[in-house]
Amino acid sequence: MARPATAVINLSAIRENFRFAQELAPYSRVMVIVKANAYGHGAVEVSRFLAPEADAFGVACIEEAIELRDAGIENPILLLEGFFEPEELDLIVEKDLWTVIHSEEQLAWISQAKLSSPITVWLKVDIGMHRLGISPDRYEAVRTMLEEMPQVCEVVSMGHFSSADDENQNVTAAQTERFKKLIPSNESPFSLANSAGCLAHSKASGTWQRPGIMLYGATPLKGHKPEHGNLKPAMTLNSEVIAVRDVPIGESVGYSATWTAARPSRIGTVAMGYADGFPRHAKTGTPVMVDGIETQIVGRVSMDMLAVDLTEILTAKVGSSVEFWGEDISANLVADWCDTIPYTLFTGITNRVHKRYIWETS
Ligand SMILES: *Cc1c(COP(=O)(O)O)cnc(C)c1O
Repeated sequence: MARPATAVINLSAIRENFRFAQELAPYSRVMVIVKANAYGHGAVEVSRFLAPEADAFGVACIEEAIELRDAGIENPILLLEGFFEPEELDLIVEKDLWTVIHSEEQLAWISQAKLSSPITVWLKVDIGMHRLGISPDRYEAVRTMLEEMPQVCEVVSMGHFSSADDENQNVTAAQTERFKKLIPSNESPFSLANSAGCLAHSKASGTWQRPGIMLYGATPLKGHKPEHGNLKPAMTLNSEVIAVRDVPIGESVGYSATWTAARPSRIGTVAMGYADGFPRHAKTGTPVMVDGIETQIVGRVSMDMLAVDLTEILTAKVGSSVEFWGEDISANLVADWCDTIPYTLFTGITNRVHKRYIWETS
C-alpha cells in the first residue's frame, strides 16, 4: 500500500449507533439503511457485521440488494425506490426482497404480474415532500387493492419526512398527523422515521425506523454536533504529509493562488484531493489534524493533493499523519466548511482511497 489516503471504518461504532437507535425507540424494529454502498462505508462489510442484530436492510435498488444476497445476507431487504420496470418483479420474488410501491405505475405493474409467490410491499404515501408516494386521497383505495391482490402478502404503510432535520418541528408534526390519518389503525405496521425522525421525533418511529446517516456517526440535525446525540464517528479519513516547504510572506500556494502567506509559513502537501472525494469546495480554514494537532487547509484543493499550514506544528514532517474527519474532527463540521452535508462527504469517497476495517467483538 503506497499512497497513504485511507478511510478507516470502525464497524463497532456503527453497531453502537445502531443500538442507540434501538434505545431511542425500543418498540420499533430497525431497518439499517445501507444504500449507496452503506453511505460509502462498504455495504457488504457493514451488512455482514450487523446481520445478527439488524431487523432488515434498506437499499435503493435491486442491484444493491443482489450484492447483499450474493454476500450471504439473509435478513429482509427493502428496495426503497421499488422496482423501475415490471421485469424486476420475478427477481424480487427469487431473491426474497421487499419492495416499496410509490406510484400508480408500479401499482399497475404488480397487478398485471404473475408471481410464483406473493411479496411484502411497503406502500409509500406522499405526506408533503412531493418526491415519491401515492397521493393521500388515493391512499386508502390503493391500499385496499394491494391487500386484495394475490401478488401481495403484506402491506406496510410508509411515509418520508421532508423536514425532520429542522429545528422548527411544525412541518414534521403536520406530516405525522397527515400520515396517521391514513393508516388503518395503530396496530397496522407503519414506518416514518429516517435518522432525523429517530433523533428528534422518536415517538413517530412506528413499527419500523429507518436510520441511515446516524448509523455512520453524523447527525442530520441542523446546528447539532454529533456528540450531542451520542453518535460515534464510524469513518476516519486520513492520509500523510508527502512534502514540506517554507513559504515566505507574499508567496501563494495552490491553483489560482487563492491563499497568500501573511507570515513566514511552513506548508505541508498532503496526498488527498477531490479525486479521492475530498470536496474541492473546502475553504481555506477547513480544520484538519496533523500529528494530533489541529490546523487548517490553505488554498485550493487539487485533484490529488491539498496544502495544510504546519507553521505551528513543529514536529510535522514528511510522513506525518493527517486526519480530515473522524474521531477528532466531525464530518458535520467539515461539511459546514464545504457548504455541504456529511452525506455527500461519505458517499463521495472514491475507490482510490484504501478502506481498512476495524472492530471489536461483542
Ligand atoms: C435514505 C433513506 C433513509 C435514511 O435517511 P437518513 O437521513 O440517512 O437517515 C430512510 N428512508 C428512506 C426512504 C430513504 O431513502
